Amino acid sequence: MSSIRLAIVGLGKIARDQHLQAIAANDGIELVAVASRNARLDGVHCFTDIDALLASGVEIDAVSLCTPPQGRFEQARAALLAGKHVMLEKPPGATIAEVFALDRLASQQGVSLFATWHSREAAAVEPARKLLAERKVKSVHVEWKEDVRHWHPGQDWIWEPGGLGVFDPGINALSIVTRIMPESFHLTASDLSFPANRAAPIAADLEFRSASGIALTAAFDWRQTGPQTWDIRVETEEGPVVLTHGGSRLFVDGDAQIVEEDREYRNLYKHFVSLVNGGQSDTDFSPLVHVADAFMLGRRHVVETFED
Ligand code: NAP
Repeated sequence: MSSIRLAIVGLGKIARDQHLQAIAANDGIELVAVASRNARLDGVHCFTDIDALLASGVEIDAVSLCTPPQGRFEQARAALLAGKHVMLEKPPGATIAEVFALDRLASQQGVSLFATWHSREAAAVEPARKLLAERKVKSVHVEWKEDVRHWHPGQDWIWEPGGLGVFDPGINALSIVTRIMPESFHLTASDLSFPANRAAPIAADLEFRSASGIALTAAFDWRQTGPQTWDIRVETEEGPVVLTHGGSRLFVDGDAQIVEEDREYRNLYKHFVSLVNGGQSDTDFSPLVHVADAFMLGRRHVVETFED
């Protein structure tokens, strides 16, 4: 099968940190163009936006959208209408309705849409899912605490409506929990802390309940300095199952089981190639639904102003 000719839209931090190397490491896909307002990349066709790219005559089969979620819908829609396969960075969009509209459009157009969740590709996630399918889960607690100044310096969009604030990393935890839990769950309480000068929360405390009554809690906080915490602790009747370091390490009943190198983005592009070649889409929006619920049910607390 011929190689998928890909364009990246939005050449920012994640595109440079992860996407470029992951594309280069995968057979069956090659980067031929970039559309970014300011950034350029040597050796490929460069455009300032997706409309210029699509109008240029440069032949591409697919686009990978690495822009902020606000505005991503128009870019994805334009690509799908032009018959291109689309890969979406997380979160897949700024609203629930828009991502379902993209899903419908992709199937009408007969092209692949991949709503990626890179954290689901972390090494411990699949083993944890298989393990939990055979155990009796008693409770789940998520702690996702990091230093926003370190990870998101100068990213104004993240504090704007649709940027999600602390849910930008928090949705990664939810993408793992929705994958590994043997049953579905829904939000029952949400406390959101908004800096007085920002439109998005800097911290969130959430409570969920599963259909059979399992309690799940999550604490997201962007004010953590020092060691960073990306942990999911699942208590089961057979003993604890703990994922740390963003899902890359697994501890079962206290013993370390998995410590592996990061292959998250390489796995995402491998999956995208197989989706495109198989004529399929992969669009699980459940983590975004939980985040939307957290805003819907959220009790707002105003906290100290935040400056970069
Ligand atoms: P970023 O560094 O701000 O890069 C996004 C790029 O998109 C910008 O450099 C900008 O390039 C372009 N862009 C287009 N419209 C824009 C707008 N209205 N405002 C700002 N930039 C705009 O952001 P990022 O960290 O790469 O995140 C992008 C997406 O990847 C987000 O959905 C994020 O959740 C996800 N992600 C990020 C990370 C991470 O560690 N940073 C990890 C995983 C996933 P031009 O100025 O050249 O147009």
